Amino acid sequence: MSIPPELAKVIELTKNHNRWRRFECINLIASENTMSPLAEAAYFTDMMHRYAEGKPGKRYYQGNIYTDEVELLVMELMSKLLKVKYIEPRAISGTVANAVVFRVLANPGDKALIAPVQAGAHVSHTKFGTLGALGIEHIELPFDLDSWNIDVDKAVKMIEEVRPKFVTLGASVYLFPHPTKEISNAAHAVGARVVHDVAHVLGLIAGNRWPNPIHQGADVATSSTHKTFPGPQGGVIFTDDEEMYKQVSKYVFPWFVSNHHLHRLPATAVTAIEMIYFGEEYADQIIRNSKAFAEALAEEGFKVLAEHLGYTKSHTIVVDVRQHGGGAKVAKALEDANIIVNKNLLPWDPPEAVRDPSGIRLGTQEMTRFGMREDDFRYLARLIREVVIDGKDPREIKKKVVEFRKNFLEVKYTFDIIKDFEGSPIKIPMLL
Ligand SMILES: *Cc1c(COP(=O)(O)O)cnc(C)c1O
Repeated sequence: MSIPPELAKVIELTKNHNRWRRFECINLIASENTMSPLAEAAYFTDMMHRYAEGKPGKRYYQGNIYTDEVELLVMELMSKLLKVKYIEPRAISGTVANAVVFRVLANPGDKALIAPVQAGAHVSHTKFGTLGALGIEHIELPFDLDSWNIDVDKAVKMIEEVRPKFVTLGASVYLFPHPTKEISNAAHAVGARVVHDVAHVLGLIAGNRWPNPIHQGADVATSSTHKTFPGPQGGVIFTDDEEMYKQVSKYVFPWFVSNHHLHRLPATAVTAIEMIYFGEEYADQIIRNSKAFAEALAEEGFKVLAEHLGYTKSHTIVVDVRQHGGGAKVAKALEDANIIVNKNLLPWDPPEAVRDPSGIRLGTQEMTRFGMREDDFRYLARLIREVVIDGKDPREIKKKVVEFRKNFLEVKYTFDIIKDFEGSPIKIPMLL
């Protein structure tokens, strides 16, 4: 039998994607990353076909002798890495983690306060997303453009007036840490809880380069496991509060998850181990790269936001590109040059500008993982200028990008299984 044309098509599309995004593009999407080959090998296992409803040792299915141990190991490693007592690893994404926690903290009809949407709150924090689906109402906290952060004084007043069930901190445009301490104190004084969504910065927290909200008074934290934390796509919930953990665990299954995508677990464990050994070095380099990249973009003539604050303390940089035709046009032109970014609302944009907002958002974390350093980001800033400001043909710049990417094909901040463990029986194909 010859290969059915549909099959050939699927294979071709997948290969094209893989070659393009993995080997020929510079990826600057702030919410993405790449697993190490070691974690990928641990991901691609029989566990992807299995069920394990319930908790380790108390499953509704047989066949979980090893998955139980792996799940406990993930909890132990993440607890060590994040220096918190309780880890719930079964939420299959950051959004599902939020759904679980929001439902633990409030009933339909209750009120929550959230970080302002235009300043980067995630759609799951809003009436258009998970919060809306759960019937929880939200009010946006006031934002102060000058400090590029939640306006603490006004927020405290709002918490006292509204007396919400909970307050959500954390964002998808996250240049500076939110004031967890001040907000938690105000919230706790009116009996409200604080959930801090660290989806974007989990890897920086793991590398001790971003405050851990649980150590600053937040009651519970939610996260994705695939942004600055370079693991498989997934979610995690963590807390030091035993009651909170018990509630969360009770709601994850059976309310929000049945199978929890078990193959995530060994890959998450591998990533956690990488972060335990290399996390600080990795997080340091991300932040150095962000600074250098922001400065270089400004020197090339771009309006990089938060200049008076040193641009950023995270992996993220935001650029106002209104004078260059707006976020949609700029993001598309860069895509034509194999530089992948996303268009993004800026704090002054109306919500309906979401299809053509004023800004673009850039993240340094993934290319840092592939070994890019400050000078490499300076060169990249020049290529971006050539496309966006000089108006050069993106297809010409694309050739330079493909050439440039050849220097950064190998994931760093991981173990080299061949070199690091000489004489060890571990070989990547053995995991397959
Ligand atoms: C990305 C993101 C999420 C959602 O994560 P998924 O894992 O894609 O569901 C939640 N909150 C914030 C702040 C995010 O940036």
